[in-house]
Amino acid sequence: MKKPRLIITNILVFVITGLIAFVGVPYWAMTQGFDTTEIVTTLVLFYATGMSITAGYHRLWSHKTYDAHPVVKVVLAIGGAMALQNSILHWSSDHRVHHRHVDEDDKDPYSAGKGLWFSHIGWMLREYQSHRYDDYSNCKDLQKDKVVMWQHNHYLPIVLIANFGLTGFLGWLNGDIFSMILLAGVFRLVAVHHVTFFINSLAHYWGSQPYTDTNSARDNGILAFFTFGEGYHNFHHIFEYDYRNGIRWYQFDPTKWLIKGLSFVGLTKNLRTCPEERIEKARAAMQLKRASQKVSKLPNAEEVMQTLQKEYDVLLQKMTDYYTTKKRIMNLRKKHLMRSMERLELDLKYKELKHSLVLQKEKWLKVSQLEVQFA
Ligand SMILES: [Zn+2]
Ligand SMILES: [Zn+2]
Repeated sequence: MKKPRLIITNILVFVITGLIAFVGVPYWAMTQGFDTTEIVTTLVLFYATGMSITAGYHRLWSHKTYDAHPVVKVVLAIGGAMALQNSILHWSSDHRVHHRHVDEDDKDPYSAGKGLWFSHIGWMLREYQSHRYDDYSNCKDLQKDKVVMWQHNHYLPIVLIANFGLTGFLGWLNGDIFSMILLAGVFRLVAVHHVTFFINSLAHYWGSQPYTDTNSARDNGILAFFTFGEGYHNFHHIFEYDYRNGIRWYQFDPTKWLIKGLSFVGLTKNLRTCPEERIEKARAAMQLKRASQKVSKLPNAEEVMQTLQKEYDVLLQKMTDYYTTKKRIMNLRKKHLMRSMERLELDLKYKELKHSLVLQKEKWLKVSQLEVQFA
């Protein structure tokens, strides 16, 4: 089959910026050197433009996981343009197709099934999806967003002014325009390109699948460190409307911290999270699935399966009881309807249910890992 036409502009951008970053910058570093201001500026812009993609393009516009103040939107739109990954509208359209048709090689624009190279960068080098270029029917909501359309309609000037104008100006302030453009402009751009591309490539190959194995997305703490928190991609693909990717406090997710941090000063609001109960149940269902696969190979499979199913059912029931009571308490508290007797009773029940759930979780962990002896 004939391959689609090459997209020369994209190839030139990747090759030229790549050569400058991998050859030009090391050469300059050895012969001229970079000063501290240039290095710090590069780091700051690396985070600012990378997180414009993760917090802006991805979590704000593609998935609408929170609402942002217009000022935040404009900053994210400019920062995202500086990361040179097409307009918000185009990026989000691709990304929504990626979620809807994940791993379907003929529909997912960067399907991991077509290989690591393809999902990383290959998909942008040829006109694989020319038929749907300019079809933004899955982004009607974004077409009503003034900031999105302003960025889309003036994409090239914004890209050029932000990338060269801003870094050039900072270089002028620092006394060396060329050196600043080289490091904070081009080198930073290439670094942001590849770490964000990792989310489509490595995050679909390398890591664990604690929530679902129906798609290739993985959770990976190491990758999260390099991708502004987006390495928790298994969670993201099942709960895409959650503003967090790393849901535990110890999981590295600076994008989540940024969104949450801005909410304290009123710049972001309506942060959406998936109910804890659903997350816990998804995790347990995955553990049951894994355990069942292992059990099927045992000689006494049927018997073990029965125990497994029984403990799983108990676990789910205990989760339901616990979270229902928790919700009730929260609702009563919100409405200030709690009478002291009722509160005492409910609090007591809540504590009991919590304790009982913890015990059952411990038991379930052993049972599902087949650590318990089955007679
Ligand atoms: Zn996504
Ligand atoms: Zn993905």
